[in-house]
Amino acid sequence: MINCSVCQTENDQYSTICKKCGGFLQNRVPNLDLFDVLWKIIENPRNAFRMIMLAEHKNYAVFLYTLSGIAIMFAEFWHFKFGDRVENILLIFFLAILIGIPLGIALCPIASSIHWGLSKILGNKASFRNSLGITSYSLTPIVISLLFVLPVELLTFGMYFFTFNPPPITIKPISYILLIGLDIALIIWAWVLLVIGTKVGNQISLWKSILISSLVYGFLLFGLMAGGEFTLKMF
Ligand SMILES: [Zn+2]
Repeated sequence: MINCSVCQTENDQYSTICKKCGGFLQNRVPNLDLFDVLWKIIENPRNAFRMIMLAEHKNYAVFLYTLSGIAIMFAEFWHFKFGDRVENILLIFFLAILIGIPLGIALCPIASSIHWGLSKILGNKASFRNSLGITSYSLTPIVISLLFVLPVELLTFGMYFFTFNPPPITIKPISYILLIGLDIALIIWAWVLLVIGTKVGNQISLWKSILISSLVYGFLLFGLMAGGEFTLKMF
């Protein structure tokens, strides 16, 4: 809640003008600067999500989803041991980008809508634009995984990162466990950011935010697994 300094009326936390007298409450953020927000997400996620809520345009939302789509495709190729089906790493690389970009763009409205729908059921402040901002910027750790962890995985294991024969864990066990552990930690961090973003953005309780975030992840994980399984049957 934010109180009007002129008439003392209580206004919504993200209002820019007073609903009663029209007095000035706070500045609207016209645009989001990508690196500024990403850094704030790492440093102080609550403040970062507040800034995202006040932003007129949820800049870079589709871009963050696109990069995450590419990360998801690499994860799918890893999970389904795609390396046993194709001969070279360049093809995996090419396919991950080729399929990952449209996948990420498609996931943007899908995941935002699921988040919006659940937030609407469990809260009342929800809007599609807010869900778009919350879900996209919560993907920051996934983007970090793509840009910083994946290159190390590819340089360390090459093609064998995606094979079952031989399993990559037998080649360099410690590196493998560390890298996969790091990826798991980054995914958990993304989920935690979604919880924080949902709580701050939709102004609802922690438990409702945990429930919404878990359901969003559950739906997406199920969809991506089922989609991967279905697509591989066609190969
Ligand atoms: Zn007022």
